[in-house]
Amino acid sequence: MSATTPPPAPQHVAVIGAGMVGLATAWFLQQRGVRVTVLDRTGVAAGASWGNAGWLTPGITTPLPEPAVLKYGLRAVLSPSSPVYVPPRADARLLRFMAGFTRHSTAAKWRTAMRAYIPMNGRAFDAFDALTDGGVGASTQEAKSFLAAYRTETERKVLLDELAHIRSAGQEIEFDVLTGAEAREVEPSLSDAVGAAIRLHGQRFINPGEYVHALADAVRARGASLVTGADVVDVRDEGPAVRVLTADGADQRYDAVVLATGTWLGDLARRFGVRTVVQAGRGYSFSVRIEHVPSGPVYFPAQRVACTPLGDRLRVAGMMEFRKAEAPLDQRRVRAIAAAARPLLRGADLDARVDEWVGSRPCTPDGLPLIGGTRSPRVFAAGGHGMWGITLGPLTGQLLAEQITTGRRPAELAPFDPQR
Ligand SMILES: Cc1cc2nc3c(=O)[nH]c(=O)nc-3n(C[C@H](O)[C@H](O)[C@H](O)COP(=O)(O)OP(=O)(O)OC[C@H]3O[C@@H](n4cnc5c(N)ncnc54)[C@H](O)[C@@H]3O)c2cc1C
Repeated sequence: MSATTPPPAPQHVAVIGAGMVGLATAWFLQQRGVRVTVLDRTGVAAGASWGNAGWLTPGITTPLPEPAVLKYGLRAVLSPSSPVYVPPRADARLLRFMAGFTRHSTAAKWRTAMRAYIPMNGRAFDAFDALTDGGVGASTQEAKSFLAAYRTETERKVLLDELAHIRSAGQEIEFDVLTGAEAREVEPSLSDAVGAAIRLHGQRFINPGEYVHALADAVRARGASLVTGADVVDVRDEGPAVRVLTADGADQRYDAVVLATGTWLGDLARRFGVRTVVQAGRGYSFSVRIEHVPSGPVYFPAQRVACTPLGDRLRVAGMMEFRKAEAPLDQRRVRAIAAAARPLLRGADLDARVDEWVGSRPCTPDGLPLIGGTRSPRVFAAGGHGMWGITLGPLTGQLLAEQITTGRRPAELAPFDPQR
């Protein structure tokens, strides 16, 4: 075979990382008749895919670097309880990330990146529906209400402007503008402090931990081995096979490998020409009892707090902490989220928190995920979705499985080339 001939469609693929992105890729590879082994150093949903807000919101899935974000960055340096935190002494990787992120936080760059998201957003729900139709034992829930709530009309203007930008870029999103009283009528769990709101239509949500476990069960039921405790330390393309070496000394060969290791993507992908930094944007969550469980997500954009109904509880999530993924959970951040949400929610017991959690959004400086081939024709990357790896995880898996098995890149993936 010449160096330029693509290898034949792989029979056996290793997917490294059992989060939403890795498992969705595994499932759609199986759909195309490929044998799959999933390896994770910890377990199913051990990374960001567990305690996130579970919003499936293609209508507002947009690139993270945007002109308004810079304002938060500056505020963060001044206040440790602000919703964005940048440590005073950044390491070299963080500095590279921040420099790139700042360069991409312009209106023109935002529009270009938004154009890349729109075709993905348009297909995101279809990929979830394909999983449901294919027997995955967890389904998505329609958000009967999806409220962004504010103290004042002035605060609301930021999201109204953003929604106008989103629409003018060509993204469909329907919404109503509500008074505080109208919002409370829809959602009695909002307090009297809420004086203005926006109601988004056509979005969905899931319990992400449950969903990803159901996906893992489906992948196993279709014959995959799911190996936990497998810390992959090296991947070597020794064509026609790729060797995957784990910390316990195991050394297995596969026809192809998908790197779906979330915020740790760079560790294994860099050697295959993936130069884009993947930086941990750490977020926190916990769940609480609330007298009236909302019928859909509630968002406090000014506080950057995202709430999601999970059974009889409310998950409350927030913060964007640019620190090492491995740093311990910082209780001050949990308290800051609770303090920010407290005046805006009615009947929520924010002191009796359970499932306190920190996880890392895999953020890229240009706000675009890394999905597709690498320098090796047998090694693929799938990650770097930042705030949107749950919404776009299934579609990522579906499109990447198509590319791996046909050798042709679907048009939607062109802007997400991992070697950009
Ligand atoms: C607070 C918060 C709220 C969020 N809310 C939403 C939301 O509402 N909607 C949305 O769409 N997104 C949301 N996100 C983002 C979303 O959670 C992530 O984009 C998504 O979970 C990333 O999935 P992943 O599969 O790429 O990575 P992960 O879920 O992090 O999975 C990576 C896996 O790789 C494994 N791994 C890493 N390195 C190795 C190795 N060397 N060997 C073996 N295994 C390895 C890890 O153990 C881990 O299980 C949120 C994130 C946070 C933090």
